[in-house]
Amino acid sequence: RRELNEKNRDIRVLRAPVICVLGHVDHGKTKILDKLRRTNVQEGEVGGITQQIGATNVPAEAIANQTKMVKPAFSIDQIDFPGLLIIDTPGHESFSNLRSRGSSLCDMAILVVDITQGLEPQTIESIELLKKRKTPFVVALNKVDRVFEWEGNQHKDIKEVVQAQAEFAKNDFERRVKEITIRLNEQGLNAALFYENPDPRTYVSLVPTSAITGDGMGNLIALICTMCQAKLAPQLRYSEELQCVVLEVKTIQGYGTTIDVILVNGRLREGDNIVLAGTEGPIVTQIRSLLMPKPLKEIRVKGSYDEFKEIKAAQGVKIAAKELDKAIAGLSLRVAQHEDEISVLKEVVHKDFTLAMKAIKVKDRGVYVQASTLGALEALLEFFKTKGIPYSGIRVGPVVKRDVMKAAAMLEHDDKYAVILAFDVKVDRDAQELADREGVIIFSEETIYHLGDRYVEFLEEHKRKKQEENRSIAIFPCKIKVLPTAIFNKRDPIVLGVTVEQGVLRTGTVLCVPAKEFVEIGVVSSMEFDHKPVDIAKKGVDVCIKIDPSPGTTPKMVGRHFEVTDEIVSKISRESINACKEYFRDDLTKTDWKLMAELKKLFDIL
Ligand code: GDP
Repeated sequence: RRELNEKNRDIRVLRAPVICVLGHVDHGKTKILDKLRRTNVQEGEVGGITQQIGATNVPAEAIANQTKMVKPAFSIDQIDFPGLLIIDTPGHESFSNLRSRGSSLCDMAILVVDITQGLEPQTIESIELLKKRKTPFVVALNKVDRVFEWEGNQHKDIKEVVQAQAEFAKNDFERRVKEITIRLNEQGLNAALFYENPDPRTYVSLVPTSAITGDGMGNLIALICTMCQAKLAPQLRYSEELQCVVLEVKTIQGYGTTIDVILVNGRLREGDNIVLAGTEGPIVTQIRSLLMPKPLKEIRVKGSYDEFKEIKAAQGVKIAAKELDKAIAGLSLRVAQHEDEISVLKEVVHKDFTLAMKAIKVKDRGVYVQASTLGALEALLEFFKTKGIPYSGIRVGPVVKRDVMKAAAMLEHDDKYAVILAFDVKVDRDAQELADREGVIIFSEETIYHLGDRYVEFLEEHKRKKQEENRSIAIFPCKIKVLPTAIFNKRDPIVLGVTVEQGVLRTGTVLCVPAKEFVEIGVVSSMEFDHKPVDIAKKGVDVCIKIDPSPGTTPKMVGRHFEVTDEIVSKISRESINACKEYFRDDLTKTDWKLMAELKKLFDIL
């Protein structure tokens, strides 16, 4: 067995599994990655980890070193593969970027859940993503040190640490685990603490961790390794067939625009002709240099990268080449072995891109969304979906005039959608000027949440403005009765006490008597409740109202044009109904809308 493992660890046999970290913001993704990296850097140079581009490589020796406390002992003999390749940028975005032909290139994931917070919106989104891409994962129940009166010990197996807790801490811990397990069940997942897991094939394992104290981190790594061995051995067989995705496009001093790629299988060589997706169509270029960061110690010496002639999977690499300005992250990169392959690969790359974009369904009405990478675009759109923000146009790349023109088309339909939401992309000056002239609004942000928040704020402001503009048009439905003992002035203005029998009476409402002969009484110009002015009176309330003649009509008089016993209603129209639906929908109850339908019939409105 030992020999077999050693043979497998030879990178000609198995490659390192690629691991992603997902979870809700602030639950500790970054800290867990930091802890994984730092522990090793601190604990001597024994098979130390290496910092790669976009990823951290944790070799088998380092794994063995970090899992010493795990029981039963987890030794290097049990590790089949050369190490773990952990993607450094946590979150949906890089997970979505790591994808080729619809399936994830990430072999396994860590879903981080703050044990004190439980499942939150992005946790659920992450679970959905993982299910969609069929990626196996473990749950790190992080911040276990925050459990009430928790006594940590990073040098012990976490099961022992849990068992050693005093009654109070143990109860608090168990209550939280139970609650999270139930929430996971609601998401269609069976889940159990890893050391109580009845069937790892059908139950998701939960590992208590603290990225601050280090509790459970060894168990987390050991579990990932065990799962990789059990579930993924065939998938991890090293193959010469290139599997390489662009994770990021970055400008680096001295190298110009470069791309950071994760090489999952196969190899890249200096001088290779590569083909990859670009915002203006496939890009064909030649690898000028393959770069990896210098080891930590040497980083302060001039230049922070080492150059390589050849790199073999699985690793994170920076590629310097010409023509990369318009490269799109989130899709596969191809290598043309011969000149004549280039045109075929261009087609393949183009097809990859169009398929990915076509898979995104857009609506007829909605905002225009732009992002720097395909993965970011997808993460952004997922987020907008949860916020109920519809989108009608999408593009990967900087905001240019053409985008503004497309977004401007919404001005004809609904100006709240004549908006470009741009995530982590440049906005061309020409484009901004055109937007200002046309009335298109561009929001540009570096984080998904800020972008969503800004648009939601804009929508609220937009709604307030529209409500203000439409206040006098949107007549609310109401039925009122005059209080016969409260007739203060019979005409011009009429001043009466009334009871709101149904619906909502607002100032600005035109009142009429629909019976026998239709009489338009006038507009409610002001109201008083308990001697104080009010704008609105709901069902059951008695108010004193002042009615001025409607513009262009003769003043009406109580007892002459209508009787105190007449039923009085608000005068609605097609236009007023539309304005209510559009801008005041939430201000009216179901019964109010029923009354609206009744009045609509009464006035013969189609
Ligand atoms: P991310 O948004 O998921 O990447 O979360 P971060 O890693 O940035 O962590 C958010 C905050 O929680 C930071 O202030 C961390 O120091 C803190 N944090 C992360 N992990 C732990 C943990 O295990 N215990 C405690 N007490 N705090 C933690």
